[in-house]
Amino acid sequence: MQPLTDSPSLKTKQLPQFAVLQLSGCAGCEVSLLNANEWVQEFELVYMPLVVSAYEVPCVDVLLISGGVRSDEDLYNLKRAVRCSKKIIAVGTCAISGGVANLGNRDEVRELFMSQTERRDLPRLLPKSQPVDAFVNVDLYLPGCPPTPELFMAALFEDDEFNPSKTVCQECGRKKLKDMKPKHLTGFQSGEVLPDICLINQGYLCVGSSTRGGCRALCTRPGHPCVGCRGPSDLLIEKDSIAWLESIQRVFAALTDIPLEEIRESLLSPQLALFLFQFSDYAATGRPPRPKEKVL
Ligand code: SF4
Ligand code: SF4
Repeated sequence: MQPLTDSPSLKTKQLPQFAVLQLSGCAGCEVSLLNANEWVQEFELVYMPLVVSAYEVPCVDVLLISGGVRSDEDLYNLKRAVRCSKKIIAVGTCAISGGVANLGNRDEVRELFMSQTERRDLPRLLPKSQPVDAFVNVDLYLPGCPPTPELFMAALFEDDEFNPSKTVCQECGRKKLKDMKPKHLTGFQSGEVLPDICLINQGYLCVGSSTRGGCRALCTRPGHPCVGCRGPSDLLIEKDSIAWLESIQRVFAALTDIPLEEIRESLLSPQLALFLFQFSDYAATGRPPRPKEKVL
């Protein structure tokens, strides 16, 4: 008689396995992944320090990497983790361009850090923050800070039907008006926000017109300006940062009377530059631009 455990109906289905390598970031990407539940029946999560740990990352079908390469420990973990992974996905702004850890490259932050003698050896920082693909090949980029649960699912399930909108504006639903022209920026998250009307018309520095869609405009619909965390739209993704800036400036010139310099200065602020230039800054390093076909 066939043993019960060999019965085909009782054999456990072998699920594809995935792991999440966490480098220098904030763990927001992992929380977003955990906010999706469709993968629970279809994939086996075998490693993610936030919830499942092991001495090292096992060989997996899909390796998601969040966080940037900021310390020697990040680099060591990254090189070990990718050795036998079949598919590698760079997840979130930090993995794609350094993200929040990248802010530590700024002189004033480094000086502050180094002035605290007790911190000098903890952790051992690399000379500068680097994106994941400075060291390993990446099969897919999943931008966002963090990417939404829906975007995580589209990446994990290789959903060909998932077609992100070209820009955040296409998902936003707010109306752009030609006769409501602010003279100055309102500033981030200050003042009253009118429903249904484009935030630019209200003086907010919203960059949704040049930013890749797919997030369902989660920020702009309730009234928070888009900061560009999904990176540039397909039209701009392989171009340099000047093209990005000019594209945003053209939209503001058409919809507002705000002086160009005021717009330009705000776009270059650390908060926005962190997201806006995550693809185009990379092009300036001499490496080839990331092909848009690899970006979800
Ligand atoms: S991309 Fe954003 S959410 Fe993800 S780790 Fe970096 S800062 Fe956190
Ligand atoms: S609020 Fe922002 S995302 Fe929405 S339509 Fe205006 S520019 Fe586009």
